[in-house]
Amino acid sequence: MKSCNKISNSTDNHQPSLGINSVYAIENDKDNDGSAMDFYDGKYPLGPYNPKIDDFSLVYINSTVNLGVITRRAFEPEQIVAQIHGEIVSDIRQHTLQLGPGTHIYDPYFSGYISHSCDPNIRLETETCQLIAIKAISPYQRLSMDYTDSEDILFKSFPCSCGSTQCRGWIQGKKESNQR
Ligand SMILES: [Zn+2]
Repeated sequence: MKSCNKISNSTDNHQPSLGINSVYAIENDKDNDGSAMDFYDGKYPLGPYNPKIDDFSLVYINSTVNLGVITRRAFEPEQIVAQIHGEIVSDIRQHTLQLGPGTHIYDPYFSGYISHSCDPNIRLETETCQLIAIKAISPYQRLSMDYTDSEDILFKSFPCSCGSTQCRGWIQGKKESNQR
């Protein structure tokens, strides 16, 4: 299994505050060929909507959430925020998003770090694997999606601290029974 050691190390050694994590781009471009212009570092075909290092940052949020994704660009509602890539797997893992029954995309590079919110600013278009803005997003906002929109079962259910007035408190997949 591919690991996210680079990211974890950088988090453990010097937890970045909310801001630009430019270290990530340098560490990610191991072969120095500039392919770390996008988060996938040449592992997937380049495309106009691939998330670019210049446009997004992985940042440390807190010990519960760990890393999150901050945008440096503004987006309008219904605008494509990013095309995501990953290994298609049949099991639920940390850093997977569900595309359909028994089908999950494992993306430990970018979308696997997008936070949950009960009042999210993006959604996953499962047909195209694109992240779409569902409201106006300003630079330096954290990207968030409602995990229960796509996930039947979560890798781990958790108490939410999204701060939204609509916060549901305990977050679990849409097919999980209501227990905690
Ligand atoms: Zn919440």
